[in-house]
Amino acid sequence: MTDTKRLVWNCEHCKKPIADDEGALIIRGREMAKHEKAWAEHDRQQRAELEATGIPRMVPVHELMALPSRVEWRGRHVGCGLNSIGDVYYDIPVGSLRTYFHVVDWTAHLMEKGWLESTDWQRVLRDVTAQMEARS
Ligand SMILES: [Zn+2]
Repeated sequence: MTDTKRLVWNCEHCKKPIADDEGALIIRGREMAKHEKAWAEHDRQQRAELEATGIPRMVPVHELMALPSRVEWRGRHVGCGLNSIGDVYYDIPVGSLRTYFHVVDWTAHLMEKGWLESTDWQRVLRDVTAQMEARS
């Protein structure tokens, strides 16, 4: 029997759903490092400009567009090479992310991290809502 209230997470590699104990949502370390480095440099430039002129600098759109976008949370099966990805920065086993309760609990936990805003967790939350709405 299919439990229609359980969240489904798909593998970025094979696109198929990931069963409990067979995979995780992950954030990659190299993408996180690239994002954090670029934004730290951007923030440093903004502070330097403010200190030098006393006026906050207007950031051109092209400059913002050139900054790395938020790091994506992606699902991956163990059988599709999860354990051979060398730069997993953070992972959430999909079996611990099946209900609204789980999502709220993980969100509270992740909000304690300094890096959550560097990720697209808000997209994950929208995916969760869309899944629940599609089944109600
Ligand atoms: Zn897979």
